[in-house]
Amino acid sequence: MMDIIKTLPLRKNGRSRPAIASIGVAALVASSLMAVHGPAASAADGDNVVLAADSPYVQEFTELYDKIHDSANGYFSPEGVPYHSIETLMVEAPDHGHETTSEAFSYYLWLEAQHGRLTEDWGPFNAAWDVMEQYIIPSGDTYKAGGYDPGSPATYAPEFGEPSEYPTPLDFDVAVGQDPLYDELQSTYGTDDIYGMHWLLDVDNVYGYGECGDGTTQPAYINTYQRGPQESVWETVAHPSCETFDYGSENGYLPIFIQDEQYAQQWRFTNAPDADARAVQAAYWALTWATEQGKASEISDTVAKAAKMGDYLRYAMYDKYFKQQGCTSPDCAAGTGKDASAYLMSWYYAWGGSMDGAWSWRIGSSHNHGGYQNPFAAWALSTVSELTPQSSSAQDDWATSLDRQIEFITWLQSDEGAIAGGATNSVGGAYEAPDSGLPSFYGMTYDEKPVYHDPPSNQWFGFQAWGMERVAEYYYVSGDAKAKAVLDKWVDWAIENTTVGGGDYQIPSTLSWSGQPGGDWADGSTSVDNSGLHVTVEDHTTDIGVTGAYARLLTYYGAKANDSDAKTTAKALLDGALMHKDAQGISVTEERADYNRFDDVWSSGDQQGLYIPDGYTGTMPNGDEIAAGKSFLDIRSFYKDDPDWSKVQDYMDGGPVPTFNYHRFWAQADIALALVDYGMLIGS
Ligand code: CA
Repeated sequence: MMDIIKTLPLRKNGRSRPAIASIGVAALVASSLMAVHGPAASAADGDNVVLAADSPYVQEFTELYDKIHDSANGYFSPEGVPYHSIETLMVEAPDHGHETTSEAFSYYLWLEAQHGRLTEDWGPFNAAWDVMEQYIIPSGDTYKAGGYDPGSPATYAPEFGEPSEYPTPLDFDVAVGQDPLYDELQSTYGTDDIYGMHWLLDVDNVYGYGECGDGTTQPAYINTYQRGPQESVWETVAHPSCETFDYGSENGYLPIFIQDEQYAQQWRFTNAPDADARAVQAAYWALTWATEQGKASEISDTVAKAAKMGDYLRYAMYDKYFKQQGCTSPDCAAGTGKDASAYLMSWYYAWGGSMDGAWSWRIGSSHNHGGYQNPFAAWALSTVSELTPQSSSAQDDWATSLDRQIEFITWLQSDEGAIAGGATNSVGGAYEAPDSGLPSFYGMTYDEKPVYHDPPSNQWFGFQAWGMERVAEYYYVSGDAKAKAVLDKWVDWAIENTTVGGGDYQIPSTLSWSGQPGGDWADGSTSVDNSGLHVTVEDHTTDIGVTGAYARLLTYYGAKANDSDAKTTAKALLDGALMHKDAQGISVTEERADYNRFDDVWSSGDQQGLYIPDGYTGTMPNGDEIAAGKSFLDIRSFYKDDPDWSKVQDYMDGGPVPTFNYHRFWAQADIALALVDYGMLIGS
């Protein structure tokens, strides 16, 4: 029997809403030149490149790079794994700061690519890939993938709206489609191992799961989100990726998520496609810069691994159960091959199997978010020979994906310019009939807030900045007029909603949405009337990571389109961010009003708080009891020993909203990348 755990990986819950720190006088000083050896000009667009290795912004990059690598600052574990944040008391997408994500690894690679660009030292880039491969790409005999049938990749289990509707029953009567990638991947690589990152690690083994029940191995593979769009981080049960029944109940954690007559020991992993695509993106730039230096051979093995990652990343294009596109009922047609592919970057792909190797499974995801798309990676994987995956249909798949992703964001672009939520091939996660009047994209239904609703996935401006930064880089290297058209409108909107001046700045934070795309988009479509699809900026932020992504997209767009508004806004944002330097990096003060959810207990009234099914009782590795009526904090009592805990306890006792100056790895990297890209492309 095949037990399938539904998986929902990385989400961005913690939109930071920082207080506005007091602003002094900008102090960006161009002093001594960086020691830069070799070519200083950047690659793609000679028209707009300034010889700028002596830019003060490049110098700021190096200063920040050094802080990130200063062991006294605590960005890396003893194994060399980048933490999600220096600070341990941290709950947003991960539920602890010393967890890490595939996202952090992808930024680590990019940071080291930039380091190689400036110093011609490619050792750190290769080393970053090696650490990633060792710790967050599962492989080996522990995770046997036996008994896989590509004609029946998984057993269907419906998703539900609320965690309290779980565990979900397996339904063997719903037809699932064929996995068209298995045979060619097997032929190319000769292994059942999937070359993709799992999304989440407990780096310090804070929970105590270790690896496959040993309790001690660190970093440890774990997962959290499993129970539909209303399961916020506060409602998750962190559990081991390798389920050996050593912790939790006599059947481990499985009965919380899945309903079965007999439970089997098993392992399962979930990939966050935006992170793997970002790793490919970083590899492209490393290849470009190393080639300029005549040093491409120094990273050729790593670049080949990036191409391999891109081969497997195609699983993210597929419907969860390989149903044909346009599915509106559990009885809809099973896919027979590429007809199950949306050619988009969906929210995840996942894989797993029994500990005894008797069976294994693979799934895609039916839900597609506008902010997850990466046309740059699709372009690199389909046009750059060193990055083109070896499997026979991979180049065509990525070429199709490139076009489809640009079409997708065009279809989703609001009247104002921001990109709306996305589309799903499985309404409600259960192949429900869509509401009449909802438009479709290649048969998939418009989804205003794909994947998660607590909080809604369409309200975080960071998805705008991340997604459009990739489009801007793609436009920079390709000159694609369709990408430029989307960017022209998006950039105008974003700059209109950004304030800079005197070193201060404010960028959009929370967005609200109304309306929908003005029509269906099918093969051959070039536009729809989106005059009824609207976005409003609800509030603003100085969030460092998002500011970095935003400044960087303005840099690439401004350089290529020679747009002075974009260039000057990028510069002002970076100057503003640099006023928030501290000993460990760049940080602004954030209020975390949501930390009052630490001790929320589930109630049938509001359906919020940690839900544990009646009748389930179990124990966390540290002895914390898992049972109905317990809270996020109750099953994570280690938080009470955190050095920052008193701030949260005071808040829950009626005190002020706690504030933090976080140093997230991805955010430090994103602002660092913005600094060096601005310095190299625009200069000063
Ligand atoms: Ca909820």
